[in-house]
Amino acid sequence: MENVVAKLSNVSKLYGEGDLEVKALDNLNLEVLRGDYLAVMGASGSGKSTAMNILGCLDRPTHGHYQLNGNAVEELTDDELADLRNQELGFVFQQFHLLQDSTALENVMLPMLYACIPPYKRKELAEAALERVGLKERMNNRPNQLSGGQQQRVAIARAIINKPSLLLADEPTGALDSNTTEDVLNLFDDLHNQGITLVLVTHEDEVALRAKRRALFKDGTIIQIS
Ligand code: ADP
Ligand code: MG
Repeated sequence: MENVVAKLSNVSKLYGEGDLEVKALDNLNLEVLRGDYLAVMGASGSGKSTAMNILGCLDRPTHGHYQLNGNAVEELTDDELADLRNQELGFVFQQFHLLQDSTALENVMLPMLYACIPPYKRKELAEAALERVGLKERMNNRPNQLSGGQQQRVAIARAIINKPSLLLADEPTGALDSNTTEDVLNLFDDLHNQGITLVLVTHEDEVALRAKRRALFKDGTIIQIS
């Protein structure tokens, strides 16, 4: 299997036009290796979320090349990109983005709907994923019946349900207190130890120190990586 999961080559992203043009990414180069755990850091506005959205195929580069698990992303149609996103990527956001009228179980089952997995199998797999994040006993609760940390664990279960080659998390602990932050970070450690490839944006040194590598963004590019 290819050792490089995701590779951004000379990626730029421009928003707006003329005087309003913003260069959110400026000639960004990044390789994410299989089994990596990379923390992305940098000041607000330095391009971290833009880079994550491109890695997550939620947005496309204006210039440059993105290779995801052997696929040249710029050559794909929107439908092909949506399929690739469903098969290869998991995304976790600061604000969880769970469906409020659905239970934890239904939220976790949702990505499998698009992956054409039969209903009985979807339920079985979603239960196992919720067990993996320590929430089996809460699977019939809706998000408003769960704490922030529990909601984020549901979001993580949903993100890993299709066995993505890359799990992306944009400030996943930004809305959590220090105890629940610790729970979520321990879960990421477990997932990393089980072989999941993880890229996580954070402002907090204690979060970044859990990762294997750290990349520092400034003005739309990486100025330091270790
Ligand atoms: P970060 O996540 O590091 O705070 P972002 O990637 O969100 O940074 O933003 C990088 C730059 O791009 C900022 O100047 C931001 O204002 C701009 N930007 C981000 N998204 C958009 C958008 N949809 N339209 C216009 N400008 C944007
Ligand atoms: Mg951001």
